[in-house]
Amino acid sequence: MNDLSETDIQYVKGVGPRRALLFKALGVESVLDLFHHYPRRYEDRRQIRHISQIEEGREETVQGKVLAAGNKKASPALTIFQIAVGDGTGIVYATWFNQPYLQSVFKVGQELILTGRVQRHRQLQIVSPEYEILTGTGDDLVNTGRIVPIYPLTEQLGQRTVRQIVYRSLESYAASAREMIGPALRDEIKLCPIAEAMRNIHFPETPAALESARRRLVFDEFLPVQLAMLLKKKQVASLPGSSKISSGGALVRTFLGTLPFALTRAQERVIAEIRRDMESDRPMNRLLQGDVGSGKTVVAISALLIALDAGYQGVLMAPTEILAEQHWRTLNALLSPIGVKLYLLIGEMGKEEKEAVRDAILSDEPAIVVGTHAIIQSEVVFSRLGVVVVDEQHKFGVAQRARLKSKGKNPDMLVMTATPIPRTLALTLYGDLDVSTLDEMPPGRGSVTSHWVSPERVGEAYGFIRKEALNGSQAYIIYPLIDESDKLALGAATDMAEMLKREQFSDLGVGLIHGRMGREERESVMRDFREGRLHILVATSVIEVGLDIPRARIMLVEHAERFGLSQLHQMRGRIGRGQERSYFLFTGQPTTEEGNKRLEALKATTDGFRIAELDLALRGPGEFFSERQHGEPDIRLGDLSRDEQILLLARDVASRIAEEDPPLSEEPHLYLRDLLIKRYKGKFFLGITS
Ligand code: ADP
Ligand code: MG
Repeated sequence: MNDLSETDIQYVKGVGPRRALLFKALGVESVLDLFHHYPRRYEDRRQIRHISQIEEGREETVQGKVLAAGNKKASPALTIFQIAVGDGTGIVYATWFNQPYLQSVFKVGQELILTGRVQRHRQLQIVSPEYEILTGTGDDLVNTGRIVPIYPLTEQLGQRTVRQIVYRSLESYAASAREMIGPALRDEIKLCPIAEAMRNIHFPETPAALESARRRLVFDEFLPVQLAMLLKKKQVASLPGSSKISSGGALVRTFLGTLPFALTRAQERVIAEIRRDMESDRPMNRLLQGDVGSGKTVVAISALLIALDAGYQGVLMAPTEILAEQHWRTLNALLSPIGVKLYLLIGEMGKEEKEAVRDAILSDEPAIVVGTHAIIQSEVVFSRLGVVVVDEQHKFGVAQRARLKSKGKNPDMLVMTATPIPRTLALTLYGDLDVSTLDEMPPGRGSVTSHWVSPERVGEAYGFIRKEALNGSQAYIIYPLIDESDKLALGAATDMAEMLKREQFSDLGVGLIHGRMGREERESVMRDFREGRLHILVATSVIEVGLDIPRARIMLVEHAERFGLSQLHQMRGRIGRGQERSYFLFTGQPTTEEGNKRLEALKATTDGFRIAELDLALRGPGEFFSERQHGEPDIRLGDLSRDEQILLLARDVASRIAEEDPPLSEEPHLYLRDLLIKRYKGKFFLGITS
């Protein structure tokens, strides 16, 4: 059978070497690429009207005979080619500018179909209409008289040409498109055959045919991704020698007993899930998602203590030094009283300090190490690493995580994220992980009110912050800095801090913090803020994660339009941590409709999952994918905010296939097997051999 991904489009009738180069610019090299070069949209040109009924200003399709045709020179620079077309009810003129060669295309007496917007200049006319010349019975309608595909184009490659070439290649090759699943299964799940889907996605006979084609092709996009995830999961589960941690749980019980609150039911459930994973003899590979403030820290500590109790070491890894320090302080306060050994390890520490920590880790002593990726530098060797907890998972690359994991003998792995991920996306990105969700907030948190402040009222916002600060509250003022190396924006934050200190808040304590400050300076600013000597903390987005200061109950974010919705929600999570009502104020002048919707949503809801879904629907999954740094799965037609049903179907089929023993060893799944090997080779072991 032809492998269409290996069939060069140069050999499709009507392409040739020159056009092949143009197609290459569109990313189309093989016939399969061409099939996957989907229309941007469609125009329904099925409705053919009598010329006597067509209306000015509307797009109309008519069918008739060429009554007259000719070029005329309107000026030295302008040639007008015009034909008159009649259908017995009336006459319409079709006009083209500076395309004299059309003289050889149209002949008096030809039957044709025209589509275009109707104008009236004394007579009815259509400028540069789409046309199809009919030659007799069984005409192939490609450009009009049907539902017509509109393709993304490149220079020198026109709509008519692309349509014609796609049409021909479908005629010659659609029948050889390979199926991912067998006919029995396909019928069972009510999907159309792939060849039919290919034809109908380009040249649908009806809207229903188009929908069914789309469904099939979206399924084919999701299936390999889901299967790869499930095979990877299965492979991880079968890894030998993972630490089987069985502890009595005394340490966890002691720890929980010291907390001034009872666990939420969600926390209890998730800790039980983690314990079950850790006690089993396969390595835990779990994603913990929970909105900001849902209490992930207690869960993380419990996982670490389960390992410690069984004589293992644990690591808590954070994406930034600020967050690592914050965790370390929190853990210290909670765990020192019960005698747990704890170390901080970050890049900025002195050499001797680091050595001491490394020596301690090398010994067999059960201990927890909190740190940044300095931990994963190669000199650090753990003697008995049992569990790795990664906070703010989405900030880490997969490679970094894998390296950390390699520090131990398949240690249990818990990755946490405060960016709740819609289910479809979680399956697509993290389908290889088990997922636990903290879907309940601890009681007793004050509510957060959000206000969109217009630029001319920023002064009032400052006034409000002032008044509340004088009453003992604290506030954050955030200036956007997407990237800490962005000097200009950093300058703006610094200048603003200076200005606020001098003017609006001259009698209050104002501090500045950003990621490019040295550790000592940063620590001292944080300490001053925590201990109430500073009322206002001006910050770049570094405070997005981790801070937990109940008295800070006002946040003003400037230029909110520059941040993503989820990111803004993360920032908002820094307040509302005490009993009293908190205020989230933001300014922003979005320049796009989408930007506007984002800020409206921010004002309207504080539900992290709702926010994440909106974010996904508004922005598409690109942002999330880039965070995973894993190469975007090839999803072109599929829409994760709309196609959940198809995704779940693909997931279901994938799990059936993954259960085969060995999977993908025979037809009808050999195509899937080839595909996975090609796509994921070198990325991870799929449990199948090539
Ligand atoms: P996040 O999920 O954002 O990391 P934290 O773990 O920082 O949330 O918890 C947020 C706050 O809620 C902390 O002050 C923590 O002590 C408190 N907290 C956690 N669990 C509970 C609970 N079950 N009841 C009351 N407060 C809790
Ligand atoms: Mg946290």
